Amino acid sequence: MTEAEIITLFRQSRALLEGHFELSSGLHSDRYFQCALVLQDPTLATHLGSTLAKLFVGLEPIAAIAAPAIGGILVAHEVARALHTRAIFTERVKGTMTLRRGFSLQPGDRVIVVEDVITTGLSTRETMAAVEQASGVVMGVGALVDRSGGTAFKDSSVPHHTLVTLAVQSYVPAECPLCRNRIPIIKPGSRI
Ligand code: ZN
Repeated sequence: MTEAEIITLFRQSRALLEGHFELSSGLHSDRYFQCALVLQDPTLATHLGSTLAKLFVGLEPIAAIAAPAIGGILVAHEVARALHTRAIFTERVKGTMTLRRGFSLQPGDRVIVVEDVITTGLSTRETMAAVEQASGVVMGVGALVDRSGGTAFKDSSVPHHTLVTLAVQSYVPAECPLCRNRIPIIKPGSRI
């Protein structure tokens, strides 16, 4: 699947919307990715996960795929399926991304961190920190969509791969041209 085909697939499943959106980061944007709408189809989820997993061939053995909850969980699961390893996830506990539920790593375990959408890369970086805190070694970073145009991980010391890379403008509310034009805002996502 080419990047253009994947974008078409996202549009068709309404996983990519155009309008005026408040992102979970609080920033505003004219485009919004809701990967859950494409991942709700298990066949597509498996296909996207295996396509992403292929970009990390050569890093084996991988002890686990780790992702920030909630958006990254299915992505980690499908990448793990393709790489024949396990999937774990971090959750925010009192503001800190933490491995809970008995998830653990052995010292030196090689881990790939994945996400559905990278906007600033913050929750991905927090998950990388949680993996390192648990004695794992982050070998790579991946996402279905990087909406930072590739800037979020351009200085990363580990390989980073995404299926779709788009430079989508995000604005702090005070500087949002869509707000200035009084376009009604939509607050999608898991926090409402
Ligand atoms: Zn706005």
